[in-house]
Amino acid sequence: MTIPYRLLLLCSLVSTLGLVSILPESKSATATVAGCPIPALSRFQRHKVVRGETLESIAQRYNLIPATLIDMNPTLMDGSVTVGSELQIPPYNGIVVEVPRGQTWRQIAAKYKVRADTLFEINGCQQDPRIVFVPEVNGSPNRPIAASTTPADVEKPDRASISGYPLQQLATIGLAYGWQINPITGEVFFHSGVDLLAAVETPVQAIAPGTVVFANDQGSYGKLVIINHSGRLQSRYAQLDNIEVTVGQKVNKGDLIGTVGTTGKPTSKQPHLHFEMRASSDLGWVAEDPKTYLKQ
Ligand SMILES: [Zn+2]
Repeated sequence: MTIPYRLLLLCSLVSTLGLVSILPESKSATATVAGCPIPALSRFQRHKVVRGETLESIAQRYNLIPATLIDMNPTLMDGSVTVGSELQIPPYNGIVVEVPRGQTWRQIAAKYKVRADTLFEINGCQQDPRIVFVPEVNGSPNRPIAASTTPADVEKPDRASISGYPLQQLATIGLAYGWQINPITGEVFFHSGVDLLAAVETPVQAIAPGTVVFANDQGSYGKLVIINHSGRLQSRYAQLDNIEVTVGQKVNKGDLIGTVGTTGKPTSKQPHLHFEMRASSDLGWVAEDPKTYLKQ
């Protein structure tokens, strides 16, 4: 391997060899903050091309546009695939960008018109990444979008009916949603939810009707319950002491789902419920300000 990576189409990092060599590095980005997913660069899959497949069919299979696959696999430049060859498959449409010397990932977010918190989370909440995955947002200027392969998602979900409060009594906010300084590590991070101060073992209730889609331990979240609601919304209840629901269970507004705890890696020592609201998007479940949904 003589070239660690090379540049194609301005800023996108595309060499297959290059991507392989970056992957181990990005693993070092440990999620120290509740709500931080595995970095996109660690979520690349490999696909071995079989007979009968085309660039378009492979792209479709992974819900990507062909241009994304070409960016990540320079051997596809001429638009054809070779049976038996291995392709790098990213988790979303987007490009891999090396953060230029003297610049920060925030400047990259601004340049590509991606929400800074989205870029931060997608790259595993790293403080100073040198290489980032920039997701492609509809209408984002980093590449013309092939209209035929982008599903026209015109459905405007009804979200007004989803509101409630996860505790029986109004709680003090320990840490608000948004960019914050971690009181323990001193690092700037994106707080994807709100911390509602409450004593350990305080009952936690569903804010709206829905279906439990996760009820287990989940890294820094600790004991976590995720409920999917109508309107492609999701509520998350983290750092729980006890979980009282199971996956697949239907819940009503106000149903007991668990109790406040200090499991996982809470951002403060004061017991609290870490509560999140997320909305479904092309990039997965994107955090929203819970304030909009919290009504007692
Ligand atoms: Zn929190």
